[in-house]
Amino acid sequence: MDFRLSEDLELWRNTVREFTEKEVAPYDAEMDEANDLNWDIIRKMSEAGMFGIPFPEEYGGSNMGSVAAAITTMELARGSASVALTLDAHWLATEPIALFGTEEHKKKYLPDLATGKKLAAFSLTEPGAGSDAAAITSTAVKDGDEWVLNGTKAWVTNGGAADVYLLAVKTDPTKGARGISTFIVEKGTPGFIIGKKEDKMGCRGSVQTELAMDNCRVPAASLLGNEGEGFKIGMTTLDFGRVCVGAIGVGLAQAAMERAARYANQRQAFGGPLAKLQAVQFKIADMAMGIEAARLLVYYSAWLRDQGKRYTKEAAMIKVVGAEVAMSAAREAIQIFGGNGYSREYPVERLLRDAKLMEIGEGALEVLRMVIGTTVLREFA
Ligand SMILES: Cc1cc2nc3c(=O)[nH]c(=O)nc-3n(C[C@H](O)[C@H](O)[C@H](O)COP(=O)(O)OP(=O)(O)OC[C@H]3O[C@@H](n4cnc5c(N)ncnc54)[C@H](O)[C@@H]3O)c2cc1C
Repeated sequence: MDFRLSEDLELWRNTVREFTEKEVAPYDAEMDEANDLNWDIIRKMSEAGMFGIPFPEEYGGSNMGSVAAAITTMELARGSASVALTLDAHWLATEPIALFGTEEHKKKYLPDLATGKKLAAFSLTEPGAGSDAAAITSTAVKDGDEWVLNGTKAWVTNGGAADVYLLAVKTDPTKGARGISTFIVEKGTPGFIIGKKEDKMGCRGSVQTELAMDNCRVPAASLLGNEGEGFKIGMTTLDFGRVCVGAIGVGLAQAAMERAARYANQRQAFGGPLAKLQAVQFKIADMAMGIEAARLLVYYSAWLRDQGKRYTKEAAMIKVVGAEVAMSAAREAIQIFGGNGYSREYPVERLLRDAKLMEIGEGALEVLRMVIGTTVLREFA
């Protein structure tokens, strides 16, 4: 057993860390204010090779694996959870093409997606169905050599910004989850409409929109995987996404702890720095413990994936743990900053707004606890 990162991984972590400090963190407040992503950062991430980390070299990726991918979102989130989320959502849509796509799909889409020349978006949620994903009502009906898509999608991260969309719709509404299929649809396809942009409380430097399909015709070859395989595709890519979101939680918590510790060392009260107060030391201790424990779970769940082992339970665990560590660290950082923490002039209130998403997106914590609980109970049946 070796707890150290390999030399390559350590080098990559330092590269992303430096990139984040220079190219990402200084712009997070600006993106939050603008409620928009920053294309300059996306371009620089593309130049730095960040989009292709988990994908094969033959399609433009660097094949560095899931631990490297999780490290990337973790380090980016130290500077901006929004930027990390943009990358995570891109991977959610790119990963299924790499895993379930035909050779034609891979050749057509992966080189641009793995290099970040184009952005991708993954769309399962609808206005009437989120946690209960099997209840989606969008449809695809076969018409000769084409499929005709209809329906409305919600909360699509990278909506509008992305060129390539993975849409989960029902091809057989009588079959519940087994009636869902996934289609690759390109922006600009007639009948494919980018809808309203969300005005969110946090992660405002990422974009989410609605999407509508109004008799949107796509060729038969747009079907990804087999008919009826869409739910499986969605759950497979969400496992990977949950590891990356858990990692975002850890990165965000790290940012909260660093800011709180620096502030506590400087701010004077009762004849000395806040850092001398035991109650403040305990808060920092709780943050540090949570972060280190969660970081190990990020590495472990990502490692399981790289070993080709089942990791659905561990992916759900790190999503929950990462979200809770992020929320708790952000909340306590505000407490340490006192009144200043409540002000938008200081950076910690944004962390709390950003952290809240980790408790909802890619599986509400209750749903993930259900996944973990039922798996553990089965293990002891
Ligand atoms: C910023 C943002 C980005 C997103 N990006 C994407 C994206 O790119 N693609 C995409 O497809 N979706 C995306 N989503 C949607 C996200 O995955 C859903 O919001 C999430 O799955 C919850 O679904 P819902 O909002 O419909 O809530 P509901 O399903 O209506 O649930 C509401 C609440 O009910 C509780 N609840 C639900 N089910 C259970 C249960 N079984 N047991 C106990 N309690 C339960 C939970 O507290 C939950 O928060 C995004 C959402 C946000 C906010």
